[in-house]
Amino acid sequence: MRLPKFEYLEPTNVKEITSLLKKNADAILVAGGTDILPKMKQRIVTPKFVINVTKIEDLKKIEFGEKKGLILGSLATLDNISKSKQVIEKFTALAQAAGRIASPQLRNMGTIGGNISIESMCMYFNQSHEWRKGRPHLCFKLGGDRCFVAKGSKECLALFQADTPPALIALGATVTIVGSTGKEKIINIEDFYTQKSKKVNILKPTDFVKQIHIPTPPKGTKSCYLKMAQRAAIDYPIAGAAACITISGNKCKNAGIAVTSVGSGPLRLKEVEDILIGNSITDELIAKAADAAYEKIRPMPHFNISAWYKRKLIRVLVKRSIKQACI
Ligand SMILES: Cc1cc2nc3c(=O)[nH]c(=O)nc-3n(C[C@H](O)[C@H](O)[C@H](O)COP(=O)(O)OP(=O)(O)OC[C@H]3O[C@@H](n4cnc5c(N)ncnc54)[C@H](O)[C@@H]3O)c2cc1C
Repeated sequence: MRLPKFEYLEPTNVKEITSLLKKNADAILVAGGTDILPKMKQRIVTPKFVINVTKIEDLKKIEFGEKKGLILGSLATLDNISKSKQVIEKFTALAQAAGRIASPQLRNMGTIGGNISIESMCMYFNQSHEWRKGRPHLCFKLGGDRCFVAKGSKECLALFQADTPPALIALGATVTIVGSTGKEKIINIEDFYTQKSKKVNILKPTDFVKQIHIPTPPKGTKSCYLKMAQRAAIDYPIAGAAACITISGNKCKNAGIAVTSVGSGPLRLKEVEDILIGNSITDELIAKAADAAYEKIRPMPHFNISAWYKRKLIRVLVKRSIKQACI
């Protein structure tokens, strides 16, 4: 499949990016291009301007200091994140999540900024234009009035399947967004997501994700991300769970638990965290926490994966990720 025609722009700093976005209403950002270029080939998006942001070397850095924590430029590649010694040691869940995405080739190109910013996917919408053209009506995502997957649904129910967001939520990350005026805004990664499939994040067309920050975890903290996919590589998660646990004096002092591929955004499971915090971690407590995850989520079935199976899978992944974060 060929790319549609577009005008190519190559800014060299963040100021230029935001002013190009402001000037050209029909523009799209391309970082690694692993998500957006296939969508352009499928004519899901046909922008007039393509802004390649990868010329900004500063934003490719992964920096760590005990005081400042981990700073990931939005253009840091998934491969570099998954292989960074400091990320592996102190932010294990993130290294594991980045390292399980797609394939080595896609991780070499794919960026963290792109990964947190991908949209939800569905069996109808993520097809070629020719395939979609076969239906006389448009779905919610294309500005229409119906869902072809969940028939009768009053809203878009596409699935959000990115791997790093649950790890970033569990680790307490924040995102720095630069708006059209050049002003920076820092928000919790959790608040980056709308939990609405039609537009999964809060980014405006003129916004640019500059960096992601994770504070240094306190002593006694460990984390883990576990993913289940149909294939061992080049596959989105059927479900994924991240756990970050801080143990102090034999008790759980802090916990961050989040899951992906269960709905319209990555989901923080506060109910599960509350069960763990303040208590000694035992097998019984972990089982209780995993049961709470099972009760909380209401997943959408997708492809041949039933909602029933997904709930059971989340229970297992939450249980195992907590256990591994406590070893
Ligand atoms: C075969 C295949 C398998 C895949 N498997 C997985 C998987 O298992 N798990 C997974 O999570 N993903 C998967 N992906 C999706 C994709 O490869 C990753 O999500 C990747 O991290 C996207 O990053 P990118 O830099 O290539 O994003 P791009 O394709 O460049 O951009 C993605 C979106 O983010 C926007 N964007 C990019 N950077 C910024 C920024 N700095 N600020 C604001 N907006 C921005 C773009 O405009 C676009 O809308 C897969 C893709 C393919 C093709």
